[in-house]
Amino acid sequence: MLELTINKATSLKQKPQGKLGFGKIFTDHMFVTEYADGAWKNARIEPYAPFSLDPSTSVLHYGQAVFEGLKAYKNEKGEIRVFRPRENFKRMNESCARLCIPAFDEEFALHAMAELIKVDADWIPTEPGTALYIRPSIIATDAALGVHAAKSYLFFIILSPVGAYYANGLAPVKLYVEERYVRASKGGTGHNKVIGNYAASLLAAENAEKLGCDQVMWLDAQEKRFVEEVGSMNIFFVIGGKVVTPALSGSILPGITRKSVIERLRAYGYTVEERAVSIDEVVSATENGALTEIFGTGTAAVISPVGSFLYRNKNYTVAGGAMGETARKIYNDLTGIQTGILPDPADWVYRIF
Ligand SMILES: *Cc1c(COP(=O)(O)O)cnc(C)c1O
Repeated sequence: MLELTINKATSLKQKPQGKLGFGKIFTDHMFVTEYADGAWKNARIEPYAPFSLDPSTSVLHYGQAVFEGLKAYKNEKGEIRVFRPRENFKRMNESCARLCIPAFDEEFALHAMAELIKVDADWIPTEPGTALYIRPSIIATDAALGVHAAKSYLFFIILSPVGAYYANGLAPVKLYVEERYVRASKGGTGHNKVIGNYAASLLAAENAEKLGCDQVMWLDAQEKRFVEEVGSMNIFFVIGGKVVTPALSGSILPGITRKSVIERLRAYGYTVEERAVSIDEVVSATENGALTEIFGTGTAAVISPVGSFLYRNKNYTVAGGAMGETARKIYNDLTGIQTGILPDPADWVYRIF
Protein backbone atom coordinates (compact mmCIF):
# COMPACT_ATOMS: atom_id res chain seq x y z
CA MET A 1 0.00 0.00 0.00
CA LEU A 2 1.08 3.58 -0.69
CA GLU A 3 2.26 5.70 2.17
CA LEU A 4 -0.01 8.61 3.12
CA THR A 5 1.63 11.76 4.45
CA ILE A 6 -0.37 14.35 6.35
CA ASN A 7 0.55 18.02 6.23
CA LYS A 8 -1.95 19.97 8.32
CA ALA A 9 -2.96 23.58 7.68
CA THR A 10 -1.41 26.07 10.09
CA SER A 11 -4.41 28.38 10.04
CA LEU A 12 -7.96 27.06 9.83
CA LYS A 13 -10.91 28.64 8.04
CA GLN A 14 -13.99 29.97 9.78
CA LYS A 15 -16.69 27.27 10.04
CA PRO A 16 -19.96 28.23 8.32
CA GLN A 17 -22.84 29.76 10.25
CA GLY A 18 -26.48 29.24 9.29
CA LYS A 19 -27.75 27.60 6.09
CA LEU A 20 -25.21 25.41 4.31
CA GLY A 21 -26.71 24.98 0.84
CA PHE A 22 -25.04 22.41 -1.39
CA GLY A 23 -21.39 22.28 -2.44
CA LYS A 24 -20.37 25.86 -1.82
CA ILE A 25 -18.22 25.50 1.29
CA PHE A 26 -15.09 23.36 1.50
CA THR A 27 -13.10 22.14 4.48
CA ASP A 28 -9.49 22.90 5.45
CA HIS A 29 -7.81 19.91 3.78
CA MET A 30 -7.84 17.74 0.68
CA PHE A 31 -6.35 14.44 -0.37
CA VAL A 32 -4.12 14.36 -3.45
CA THR A 33 -2.14 11.67 -5.25
CA GLU A 34 -0.48 11.78 -8.66
CA TYR A 35 -0.06 9.16 -11.33
CA ALA A 36 3.17 9.31 -13.31
CA ASP A 37 5.61 6.80 -14.81
CA GLY A 38 3.06 4.02 -14.45
CA ALA A 39 2.23 4.37 -10.74
CA TRP A 40 0.18 6.34 -8.23
CA LYS A 41 2.55 8.16 -5.90
CA ASN A 42 3.03 11.06 -3.52
CA ALA A 43 -0.24 10.43 -1.65
CA ARG A 44 -0.88 13.19 0.81
CA ILE A 45 -3.39 15.16 2.82
CA GLU A 46 -2.61 18.83 2.58
CA PRO A 47 -4.28 22.22 3.07
CA TYR A 48 -7.19 22.83 0.66
CA ALA A 49 -5.86 25.12 -2.08
CA PRO A 50 -6.17 25.82 -5.82
CA PHE A 51 -4.24 23.65 -8.29
CA SER A 52 -1.88 25.22 -10.74
CA LEU A 53 -2.45 23.70 -14.20
CA ASP A 54 -0.75 24.39 -17.52
CA PRO A 55 -3.27 25.80 -20.03
CA SER A 56 -2.59 22.79 -22.27
CA THR A 57 -3.60 20.31 -19.53
CA SER A 58 -5.47 17.51 -21.26
CA VAL A 59 -8.56 17.43 -19.02
CA LEU A 60 -9.31 21.05 -19.94
CA HIS A 61 -9.49 20.12 -23.63
CA TYR A 62 -10.89 16.61 -23.83
CA GLY A 63 -12.62 16.01 -20.51
CA GLN A 64 -10.79 12.86 -19.51
CA ALA A 65 -12.03 12.85 -15.92
CA VAL A 66 -14.25 10.86 -13.58
CA PHE A 67 -15.78 11.64 -10.21
CA GLU A 68 -17.84 10.25 -7.35
CA GLY A 69 -20.15 11.61 -4.70
CA LEU A 70 -20.86 10.13 -1.28
CA LYS A 71 -21.72 11.32 2.18
CA ALA A 72 -20.50 11.05 5.78
CA TYR A 73 -22.90 11.66 8.65
CA LYS A 74 -22.13 12.59 12.25
CA ASN A 75 -24.79 11.78 14.83
CA GLU A 76 -25.43 12.95 18.38
CA LYS A 77 -23.20 10.22 19.77
CA GLY A 78 -20.33 11.67 17.74
CA GLU A 79 -20.16 8.65 15.43
CA ILE A 80 -18.96 9.40 11.90
CA ARG A 81 -20.58 7.09 9.38
CA VAL A 82 -19.98 6.87 5.61
CA PHE A 83 -22.64 5.19 3.48
CA ARG A 84 -21.34 2.30 1.28
CA PRO A 85 -18.03 3.96 0.29
CA ARG A 86 -16.54 0.79 -1.18
CA GLU A 87 -19.31 0.86 -3.78
CA ASN A 88 -18.26 4.35 -4.83
CA PHE A 89 -14.58 3.50 -5.25
CA LYS A 90 -15.48 0.36 -7.16
CA ARG A 91 -17.73 2.36 -9.49
CA MET A 92 -15.01 5.00 -9.86
CA ASN A 93 -12.54 2.37 -11.09
CA GLU A 94 -15.19 1.21 -13.59
CA SER A 95 -15.50 4.80 -14.82
CA CYS A 96 -11.69 4.96 -15.07
CA ALA A 97 -11.62 1.82 -17.20
CA ARG A 98 -14.11 3.38 -19.64
CA LEU A 99 -11.96 6.51 -20.03
CA CYS A 100 -8.54 4.75 -20.19
CA ILE A 101 -7.57 6.16 -16.78
CA PRO A 102 -5.33 3.81 -14.78
CA ALA A 103 -7.00 1.97 -11.89
CA PHE A 104 -6.25 2.86 -8.28
CA ASP A 105 -6.19 0.76 -5.11
CA GLU A 106 -9.73 0.97 -3.73
CA GLU A 107 -8.76 0.04 -0.17
CA PHE A 108 -6.09 2.74 -0.19
CA ALA A 109 -8.57 5.32 -1.46
CA LEU A 110 -10.95 4.33 1.33
CA HIS A 111 -8.15 4.70 3.89
CA ALA A 112 -7.14 8.11 2.49
CA MET A 113 -10.77 9.28 2.55
CA ALA A 114 -11.14 8.14 6.17
CA GLU A 115 -7.94 9.93 7.23
CA LEU A 116 -9.06 13.11 5.46
CA ILE A 117 -12.44 12.99 7.21
CA LYS A 118 -10.68 12.51 10.56
CA VAL A 119 -8.52 15.59 9.96
CA ASP A 120 -11.60 17.69 9.08
CA ALA A 121 -14.07 15.94 11.43
CA ASP A 122 -15.04 19.24 13.09
CA TRP A 123 -16.58 20.33 9.79
CA ILE A 124 -19.25 17.63 9.75
CA PRO A 125 -22.63 19.19 10.49
CA THR A 126 -25.06 17.33 12.75
CA GLU A 127 -28.47 18.97 12.17
CA PRO A 128 -31.08 16.71 10.56
CA GLY A 129 -30.74 16.61 6.76
CA THR A 130 -27.11 17.78 6.79
CA ALA A 131 -23.99 15.76 5.96
CA LEU A 132 -20.41 15.99 4.78
CA TYR A 133 -20.41 15.53 1.01
CA ILE A 134 -17.29 13.75 -0.26
CA ARG A 135 -16.14 14.40 -3.82
CA PRO A 136 -13.36 12.18 -5.20
CA SER A 137 -12.19 13.11 -8.73
CA ILE A 138 -9.49 12.02 -11.16
CA ILE A 139 -8.35 14.32 -13.95
CA ALA A 140 -5.87 13.86 -16.82
CA THR A 141 -2.93 16.22 -16.39
CA ASP A 142 -0.61 15.78 -19.40
CA ALA A 143 0.46 19.24 -20.55
CA ALA A 144 0.02 18.51 -24.26
CA LEU A 145 -2.64 18.69 -26.96
CA GLY A 146 -3.52 15.63 -29.02
CA VAL A 147 -6.43 13.30 -28.45
CA HIS A 148 -5.18 10.19 -26.66
CA ALA A 149 -5.20 8.83 -23.12
CA ALA A 150 -2.94 10.88 -20.86
CA LYS A 151 0.09 9.45 -19.06
CA SER A 152 -0.31 11.56 -15.94
CA TYR A 153 -3.30 12.07 -13.63
CA LEU A 154 -4.32 13.77 -10.43
CA PHE A 155 -6.66 12.01 -7.98
CA PHE A 156 -8.08 14.29 -5.31
CA ILE A 157 -10.78 14.20 -2.66
CA ILE A 158 -12.47 17.33 -1.34
CA LEU A 159 -15.10 17.66 1.40
CA SER A 160 -18.10 19.96 1.65
CA PRO A 161 -20.53 20.33 4.57
CA VAL A 162 -24.00 20.36 2.97
CA GLY A 163 -27.62 20.99 3.86
CA ALA A 164 -30.60 19.74 1.88
CA TYR A 165 -29.86 19.36 -1.84
CA TYR A 166 -32.97 21.23 -2.87
CA ALA A 167 -33.75 24.59 -1.32
CA ASN A 168 -37.24 23.35 -0.41
CA GLY A 169 -36.05 20.13 1.21
CA LEU A 170 -38.32 17.18 0.46
CA ALA A 171 -40.90 19.23 -1.47
CA PRO A 172 -42.06 17.32 -4.59
CA VAL A 173 -40.44 18.40 -7.86
CA LYS A 174 -41.91 18.93 -11.30
CA LEU A 175 -40.36 17.04 -14.23
CA TYR A 176 -40.09 17.93 -17.88
CA VAL A 177 -40.17 14.89 -20.18
CA GLU A 178 -37.40 15.65 -22.68
CA GLU A 179 -37.90 14.38 -26.23
CA ARG A 180 -35.36 16.43 -28.13
CA TYR A 181 -32.08 16.04 -26.24
CA VAL A 182 -30.73 12.82 -24.76
CA ARG A 183 -28.42 12.30 -21.80
CA ALA A 184 -26.71 9.12 -22.89
CA SER A 185 -26.85 6.30 -25.40
CA LYS A 186 -25.88 2.67 -25.18
CA GLY A 187 -22.19 2.25 -25.90
CA GLY A 188 -21.50 5.79 -24.67
CA THR A 189 -20.60 6.85 -21.13
CA GLY A 190 -24.02 7.24 -19.51
CA HIS A 191 -23.45 4.37 -17.11
CA ASN A 192 -20.22 5.92 -15.84
CA LYS A 193 -19.67 9.02 -13.70
CA VAL A 194 -17.61 10.91 -16.27
CA ILE A 195 -17.65 14.70 -16.38
CA GLY A 196 -18.77 15.11 -20.01
CA ASN A 197 -22.19 13.59 -19.26
CA TYR A 198 -23.11 16.57 -17.13
CA ALA A 199 -22.10 19.35 -19.53
CA ALA A 200 -24.26 17.63 -22.16
CA SER A 201 -27.30 17.71 -19.85
CA LEU A 202 -27.27 21.43 -19.02
CA LEU A 203 -29.20 22.78 -22.01
CA ALA A 204 -32.14 20.45 -21.42
CA ALA A 205 -32.13 21.41 -17.73
CA GLU A 206 -32.22 25.13 -18.63
CA ASN A 207 -35.07 24.61 -21.07
CA ALA A 208 -37.02 22.64 -18.47
CA GLU A 209 -36.51 25.46 -15.99
CA LYS A 210 -37.90 28.00 -18.48
CA LEU A 211 -41.04 25.86 -18.64
CA GLY A 212 -41.38 25.98 -14.87
CA CYS A 213 -39.97 22.49 -14.25
CA ASP A 214 -37.27 21.52 -11.74
CA GLN A 215 -35.73 18.47 -13.41
CA VAL A 216 -35.54 16.64 -16.72
CA MET A 217 -37.03 13.17 -17.20
CA TRP A 218 -34.67 11.54 -19.70
CA LEU A 219 -35.82 9.07 -22.32
CA ASP A 220 -33.69 6.51 -24.15
CA ALA A 221 -31.63 7.82 -27.06
CA GLN A 222 -32.73 5.27 -29.67
CA GLU A 223 -36.51 5.46 -29.54
CA LYS A 224 -37.25 8.28 -27.06
CA ARG A 225 -39.74 5.86 -25.61
CA PHE A 226 -38.31 4.42 -22.42
CA VAL A 227 -37.67 6.38 -19.24
CA GLU A 228 -34.04 6.33 -18.10
CA GLU A 229 -33.32 8.81 -15.30
CA VAL A 230 -34.41 12.08 -13.74
CA GLY A 231 -31.88 14.93 -13.66
CA SER A 232 -28.85 13.18 -12.19
CA MET A 233 -30.89 10.70 -10.20
CA ASN A 234 -32.34 7.27 -10.86
CA ILE A 235 -36.11 7.04 -11.08
CA PHE A 236 -38.74 4.85 -9.42
CA PHE A 237 -42.48 4.45 -10.05
CA VAL A 238 -45.16 2.82 -7.96
CA ILE A 239 -47.62 1.24 -10.40
CA GLY A 240 -50.43 -1.02 -9.29
CA GLY A 241 -48.80 -1.39 -5.88
CA LYS A 242 -45.50 -2.62 -7.37
CA VAL A 243 -42.30 -0.63 -7.34
CA VAL A 244 -40.83 -0.33 -10.83
CA THR A 245 -37.49 1.11 -11.92
CA PRO A 246 -35.80 1.08 -15.34
CA ALA A 247 -33.41 -1.87 -15.68
CA LEU A 248 -29.74 -0.87 -16.08
CA SER A 249 -29.58 -0.78 -19.85
CA GLY A 250 -26.06 0.49 -20.48
CA SER A 251 -27.02 4.17 -20.57
CA ILE A 252 -28.28 4.48 -16.98
CA LEU A 253 -25.96 5.32 -14.10
CA PRO A 254 -25.97 2.42 -11.63
CA GLY A 255 -26.83 4.44 -8.53
CA ILE A 256 -25.83 3.17 -5.11
CA THR A 257 -28.98 4.76 -3.69
CA ARG A 258 -30.97 2.96 -6.43
CA LYS A 259 -29.43 -0.36 -5.45
CA SER A 260 -30.00 0.33 -1.74
CA VAL A 261 -33.65 1.30 -2.32
CA ILE A 262 -34.28 -1.91 -4.27
CA GLU A 263 -32.64 -4.04 -1.57
CA ARG A 264 -34.47 -2.36 1.33
CA LEU A 265 -37.90 -2.37 -0.32
CA ARG A 266 -37.52 -6.06 -1.13
CA ALA A 267 -36.53 -6.71 2.49
CA TYR A 268 -39.79 -4.99 3.51
CA GLY A 269 -41.73 -7.33 1.22
CA TYR A 270 -42.39 -4.98 -1.69
CA THR A 271 -42.34 -6.34 -5.21
CA VAL A 272 -39.63 -4.42 -7.06
CA GLU A 273 -39.34 -4.83 -10.82
CA GLU A 274 -36.30 -3.76 -12.82
CA ARG A 275 -37.52 -3.54 -16.38
CA ALA A 276 -38.11 -1.19 -19.31
CA VAL A 277 -40.69 1.49 -18.45
CA SER A 278 -42.14 3.38 -21.41
CA ILE A 279 -43.40 6.95 -21.16
CA ASP A 280 -46.69 5.65 -22.64
CA GLU A 281 -47.07 3.30 -19.69
CA VAL A 282 -46.29 6.12 -17.24
CA VAL A 283 -48.86 8.42 -18.89
CA SER A 284 -51.63 5.84 -19.08
CA ALA A 285 -50.99 4.57 -15.54
CA THR A 286 -51.14 8.16 -14.31
CA GLU A 287 -54.40 8.74 -16.20
CA ASN A 288 -56.07 5.56 -14.98
CA GLY A 289 -54.86 5.98 -11.40
CA ALA A 290 -52.63 2.88 -11.28
CA LEU A 291 -49.52 5.06 -10.87
CA THR A 292 -49.45 6.38 -7.33
CA GLU A 293 -45.88 7.67 -6.92
CA ILE A 294 -42.73 8.73 -8.73
CA PHE A 295 -39.48 9.50 -6.94
CA GLY A 296 -35.83 10.06 -7.78
CA THR A 297 -32.91 8.54 -5.89
CA GLY A 298 -29.32 9.74 -5.49
CA THR A 299 -26.71 10.49 -2.85
CA ALA A 300 -27.27 14.25 -2.84
CA ALA A 301 -31.04 14.29 -2.21
CA VAL A 302 -31.37 10.62 -1.10
CA ILE A 303 -35.06 10.57 -2.17
CA SER A 304 -36.72 13.28 -4.25
CA PRO A 305 -40.50 12.93 -4.61
CA VAL A 306 -42.09 13.94 -7.92
CA GLY A 307 -45.34 15.92 -7.72
CA SER A 308 -46.04 16.28 -11.44
CA PHE A 309 -44.58 15.95 -14.92
CA LEU A 310 -45.00 17.88 -18.15
CA TYR A 311 -45.22 15.78 -21.33
CA ARG A 312 -46.18 17.14 -24.75
CA ASN A 313 -47.61 20.32 -23.23
CA LYS A 314 -49.80 18.45 -20.81
CA ASN A 315 -49.31 18.47 -17.07
CA TYR A 316 -49.84 15.25 -15.09
CA THR A 317 -50.20 15.36 -11.31
CA VAL A 318 -48.69 12.51 -9.32
CA ALA A 319 -49.68 11.47 -5.78
CA GLY A 320 -51.86 14.56 -5.52
CA GLY A 321 -48.67 16.65 -5.75
CA ALA A 322 -47.45 15.42 -2.36
CA MET A 323 -44.76 12.99 -1.15
CA GLY A 324 -45.99 9.42 -1.44
CA GLU A 325 -46.01 6.77 1.24
CA THR A 326 -43.31 4.57 -0.34
CA ALA A 327 -40.99 7.54 -0.87
CA ARG A 328 -41.41 8.62 2.75
CA LYS A 329 -40.88 5.14 4.10
CA ILE A 330 -37.69 4.52 2.11
CA TYR A 331 -36.39 8.02 2.89
CA ASN A 332 -36.82 7.43 6.63
CA ASP A 333 -35.30 3.98 6.33
CA LEU A 334 -32.17 4.97 4.37
CA THR A 335 -31.48 8.15 6.32
CA GLY A 336 -32.08 6.17 9.53
CA ILE A 337 -29.39 3.66 8.52
CA GLN A 338 -27.06 6.42 7.34
CA THR A 339 -27.26 8.40 10.58
CA GLY A 340 -27.44 5.42 12.95
CA ILE A 341 -31.00 5.95 14.20
CA LEU A 342 -31.85 2.55 12.70
CA PRO A 343 -29.76 -0.64 12.74
CA ASP A 344 -27.56 -1.33 9.71
CA PRO A 345 -28.72 -4.80 8.67
CA ALA A 346 -26.41 -5.35 5.69
CA ASP A 347 -23.22 -3.70 7.00
CA TRP A 348 -23.49 -0.76 4.64
CA VAL A 349 -22.08 1.85 6.96
CA TYR A 350 -18.33 2.40 7.20
CA ARG A 351 -17.48 3.80 10.63
CA ILE A 352 -14.69 6.36 10.92
CA PHE A 353 -15.21 6.68 14.69
C1 LIG B 1 -24.52 9.93 -9.34
C2 LIG B 1 -25.68 9.74 -10.23
C3 LIG B 1 -26.83 9.03 -9.84
C4 LIG B 1 -27.05 8.55 -8.43
O1 LIG B 1 -26.07 7.68 -7.97
P1 LIG B 1 -25.90 7.46 -6.40
O2 LIG B 1 -24.80 6.47 -6.31
O3 LIG B 1 -27.18 6.96 -5.89
O4 LIG B 1 -25.55 8.79 -5.83
C5 LIG B 1 -27.82 8.83 -10.78
N1 LIG B 1 -27.72 9.31 -12.03
C6 LIG B 1 -26.64 10.01 -12.43
C7 LIG B 1 -26.58 10.50 -13.82
C8 LIG B 1 -25.59 10.25 -11.55
O5 LIG B 1 -24.54 10.96 -11.93
